[in-house]
Amino acid sequence: MAEELNPFKIAQEQLDMAAKLLKLDPAVHSVLREPKRVLEVTFPVRMDNGQVKTFKGFRVQYNDARGPCKGGIRFHPQETLDTVKALAAWMTWKTACVGIPLGGGKGGVICNPKEMSRAELERLSRGYIDAIGMIIGPELDIPAPDVYTDPQIMAWMMDEFAKIRGHNAPGVITGKPIPLGGSQGRGDATARGAVYTIREATKKLNIPLKDATVAVQGYGNAGSYAAILLKEMGARVIAVSDSKGGILYEKGLDPQAVLQHKHKTGSVVGYAGAKEITNESLLEEQCDILCPAALENVVTGKNAPRVRAKIVAEVANGPTTPEADEILFKNKVFDIPDFLCNAGGVTVSYFEWVQNTYGLYWPVEEIHDRLDKIMTKAFNDVYDMHLKHNVNMRMAAYILAVQRVAEAMKLRGWV
Ligand code: NAD
Repeated sequence: MAEELNPFKIAQEQLDMAAKLLKLDPAVHSVLREPKRVLEVTFPVRMDNGQVKTFKGFRVQYNDARGPCKGGIRFHPQETLDTVKALAAWMTWKTACVGIPLGGGKGGVICNPKEMSRAELERLSRGYIDAIGMIIGPELDIPAPDVYTDPQIMAWMMDEFAKIRGHNAPGVITGKPIPLGGSQGRGDATARGAVYTIREATKKLNIPLKDATVAVQGYGNAGSYAAILLKEMGARVIAVSDSKGGILYEKGLDPQAVLQHKHKTGSVVGYAGAKEITNESLLEEQCDILCPAALENVVTGKNAPRVRAKIVAEVANGPTTPEADEILFKNKVFDIPDFLCNAGGVTVSYFEWVQNTYGLYWPVEEIHDRLDKIMTKAFNDVYDMHLKHNVNMRMAAYILAVQRVAEAMKLRGWV
């Protein structure tokens, strides 16, 4: 039978496993299996040719027991409500896992930003905020960037929200440009947080980071910075890819130069001196550290037996299916689960929200230092849970996160 790849079913399945191990109160479990609030919107956008097109979007608020909902907005042609629900659930576990006082949410619009002009994207961004404006706010639900959304889009969204409310409210959204209240260090925060967890994992596994070989799938915001930072820490980035294909150079790529090539040509493919490979084969390259940093469900029951990396660092959300998880665990591939590995983005988003609330801004060194402390502690908390319960790192992260959310729900008297 084909493996079930509905991301929300996968998220529920993962929660069910954690609930069983935790002997979770069935009432808490039942609340945690579904989002608290789902908003589906359709809204008109005037295109550059004068015609009006209708777009569909979602905002899911999964759980706010530990604080306001928090989660990015994706612009993607294949966006589905179930994907947004899964991502909102994972945000709930992510904020709890790293111990920041926020809940989980997520948003998305079905659109193809690659086929839209900047002016059309601005009208789409404003239209989406008009449609969901009544359920977001600094104390309610705080969106952020995700796949194919960027700081400029956050700026338009913040401005639209300010117009609706009639006053500035920079804390409504994070990932803003710095002149509009964005935080230092937000640009590379997801990758930097991931790299801190990779550093901790290599210590536990006795793999020297110096000259460790790295393959990165997805060369966008998260993937390209991960490659750059890992190279800075002495690792050798041998393969990277994007939606158009991959490149391999065993002596080690220059990630900055690859990024410049991608900016110039639109893809990493065609980078001088490197061998072209497929996205699928990148996942099976012989390397120490594999970073899936694109979309979900790329390591599956089918290809997991062929993964030869020692560490899989899930920079992307949901890249590994449950069937693949079991195979990796059996094959002693050490997996750093998504909601631990990529929590650096939401952690610096949290710093941005705190700075907006105080109107007081921190230097980048302070951001890096605080991020390192939070990520290192979270990694070690999850690692200890992994040893204590003899479960893989994902289950350990679930146990930790679900326990924390359940405790907040009980203290509030919800269950
Ligand atoms: P992005 O849009 O900047 O980059 C996505 C990259 O993936 C692009 O290079 C694109 O070409 C590539 N890609 C798309 N389809 C692909 C395919 N089929 N095979 C290989 N590559 C493909 O997005 P991002 O912000 O870097 O996000 C990437 C992942 O990281 C997502 O899963 C996202 O949810 C997760 N993430 C991002 C952040 C953040 O702060 N940016 C935070 C947490 C998690």
